[in-house]
Formats: sequence, structure tokens, C-alpha cells
Amino acid sequence: MKPPMNDDPHNRARRLIDMERVEGLAREDQRWLRDHLAACETCAGRAARTEAALRALRTASVSMPRGLAAAAQSTLRRRAEELRAQHTRNVALAIGCTLSWLFGVASAPLVWKVCAWVGTTLDLPRVVWVLGFAAWWFIPVSAMGVVILWLRRRWERESPAFGSRW
Ligand SMILES: [Zn+2]
Repeated sequence: MKPPMNDDPHNRARRLIDMERVEGLAREDQRWLRDHLAACETCAGRAARTEAALRALRTASVSMPRGLAAAAQSTLRRRAEELRAQHTRNVALAIGCTLSWLFGVASAPLVWKVCAWVGTTLDLPRVVWVLGFAAWWFIPVSAMGVVILWLRRRWERESPAFGSRW
């Protein structure tokens, strides 16, 4: 007579392997399972796979949040570095603008005197040396403006967020 499924020793071993994880085994069942696993390669393999799967699950549940945290951390760090770089650029631009303006204003009287002297010495019409003064004074300022525009366009290309701050 064919024994019912539950009496098949391999089925019993399988059931006990699962039960061992969930509710534990009576000492009698434990002993029986140990003996069966020692004798049956198939069931021993199944027990080992179950153990490995459970270990992997435990490891995954611990390492996944750690991985997520690291990813979030590196994203934040990258953003902070971006903001710091942006701030440095803004400060550099502000200094550049201020310097060029100060230079232009501060040098104006001197340039005016030089132009006036050249105009008088060479006996040039006043309009010529006044225009010369205007050109001289505006050249550094416009050159600086071109440089600033060029830098701004380049920085905007590098980080699109930069443009929205100006
Ligand atoms: Zn077996």
C-alpha cells in the first residue's frame, strides 16, 4: 500500500525544515530531521538552500537601507559642493564687477588729465581728446563686461540652475 504524502520521509523532512524556521521543532523531530539530512543529500541540499535564502534576506534587509542612506548622502554632498562652487563664482563675479567699476571711476580723473595733456600738447581739437578719454575709459570696462558675459554663459551651460539665480 502506498503511504500517504505526509508519511513520505522527504516530505516530512521538507515540512520540518520549514517548521524549524517558524515555530521550532520538538526534540524528537529535531533528532529525526538531523538523521534524515545526514542520510539524504536531496533534503540536506534543500535545508542548505533555505538557510542561504534566509541569510540573504537578512543581509539584504540590513544592507539596503545602508545603501539608500549612502546614495542620499552622496546626493546631498554633491548638491552642497555645487552650491559652494556657485557661491564662489557669484562672489568672484561681484568682486570682478566692483573692481572694474572702481578702476574705471578711480582712473577717470587721471585718464582725463592725460588726455587733456595729450590734446593740448598735440593741439588737438577738444572733441578728439574727449572722445579719446571716453574710449580709453570705456575699453577696460567693456572688456570686463565681455569677459563677465562670456563667463556667465559658460557657467550657465555647465549648471543650468546658475542662470536662474541672476
Ligand atoms: Zn530526504
